[in-house]
Amino acid sequence: MTTSPPPNPGFPASAPARPRSWAEPWKVKVVEPIRMMDAPARAAALVEAGYNTFLLRSEDVYIDLLTDSGTGAMSDWQWAGMMMGDEAYAGSRNFYHLEDAVRRHYGYRHIVPTHQGRGAENLLSRMLIHPGNVVPGNMYFTTTRLHQELAGGRFVDVIVPEAHDPTSLRPFKGNIDLAALDLLITNVGAKNIPYVCVAATVNMAGGQPISMANMRAVRELTGRHGIRVMLDATRAVENAYFIQQREAGFAGRSVAQILLEFCSYSDGCTMSGKKDSLVNIGGWLALNDDTLYEEASNLVVVYEGLHTYGGMAGRDMEAMARGIVESVQDDHIRARVGQVEYLGRKLQEAGVPIVLPVGGHAVYLDARAFYPHLKQDQFPAQRLAAELYLDSGVRAMERGIVSAGRDSTTGEHHYPALELVRLTIPRRVYTQAHMDLTAESVIAVHDTRQATKGLRLVHEPRYLRFFQARFEPLD
Ligand SMILES: *Cc1c(COP(=O)(O)O)cnc(C)c1O
Repeated sequence: MTTSPPPNPGFPASAPARPRSWAEPWKVKVVEPIRMMDAPARAAALVEAGYNTFLLRSEDVYIDLLTDSGTGAMSDWQWAGMMMGDEAYAGSRNFYHLEDAVRRHYGYRHIVPTHQGRGAENLLSRMLIHPGNVVPGNMYFTTTRLHQELAGGRFVDVIVPEAHDPTSLRPFKGNIDLAALDLLITNVGAKNIPYVCVAATVNMAGGQPISMANMRAVRELTGRHGIRVMLDATRAVENAYFIQQREAGFAGRSVAQILLEFCSYSDGCTMSGKKDSLVNIGGWLALNDDTLYEEASNLVVVYEGLHTYGGMAGRDMEAMARGIVESVQDDHIRARVGQVEYLGRKLQEAGVPIVLPVGGHAVYLDARAFYPHLKQDQFPAQRLAAELYLDSGVRAMERGIVSAGRDSTTGEHHYPALELVRLTIPRRVYTQAHMDLTAESVIAVHDTRQATKGLRLVHEPRYLRFFQARFEPLD
């Protein structure tokens, strides 16, 4: 059943004297053909898409590194679970498997399924945030911040300063700046802070982890003021892997054990199952507080569905329950992050400016350093993603000024310190050869960087503009 882990060959118990490679702990059973269009066809597709990689058709993409969200490959064990869907409206057995997997591996008492992560963010924000509230967090995430603002809150970034420096080699650049958080609590008052929103890892900072010590300290500080800690657990398994690899005292502990301890310093979490949990769709809200859970299981009926399915089919909940079990296996996560590090190392060796250290789910190109001759409002990262597609059909994502959007009061662009292009690696999908080709393409675009001009924004949607904005080249 769901609770038994899949067969797991693991690594030799005695570590070899010399480091070994991170070969994938699986073999391929099904393949999906992909093709590269010729250069004129790619150029036409890019114009059609308004120089926005979100608006390209998937068919026109060769290697799709837009996102690791819902783009992973499921295992045979998950697919087998899809056939075990109990599509009852209420009380599906797959819900109980999911609840069991979340309790066992994340340790929270209650869970409310949602169609994906933002569904959980909506519920949490509506329940806890009141107009005028302040929500501190370790760098914003697009949908998370928008839900906080729509609920009347104001997001305040309390991430450590080195998070904004792509060249800093500090191991835990996702950490919360405790002094800044302490000062904020003093300035706005604990009663105006419904919770601290802790992301692990921090997507917008380049997939950077937060340490166990920092998480404990956040718990301790907020505990003194009676402020809740809510985790964005989207990539908490990857975060646990970095703790195992980088933090003193954790080398001998399994990723599963580390994840449980990490989550124990929070009161609940929002989760996008499309990332760590190895499914194409799904998410959940987890809560320890009984009263809050009561309210959430009522509110979910309005926006998602009954509290035992929350917008998901039974079969999808089963796949997610099994994905959770697979996701916390040490050999899985080692190969997953290992592939990201492989691509990062190739680019670094070629002198391409990337965010260091390489994060858990993506390699981030530093578009500012790539195109120092472009001003930020000429959208250097947006242009870089477009150039990469033109060169090879590799699709990446802008994570810079376009993603940052506008200030909700002044209407000015937010000008984030980081102007990045994200090469996001889907889980269990591409091979090392795909990573090699991607690296070659980035290097080719880097070689011709001096001649590249910026972009002009010609269409700007009101919410989360990066998804649908359109651009024209300045040259
Ligand atoms: C993807 C993501 C979300 C939102 O989840 P969706 O499933 O896309 O709605 C929230 N936070 C982080 C850090 C994410 O990466």
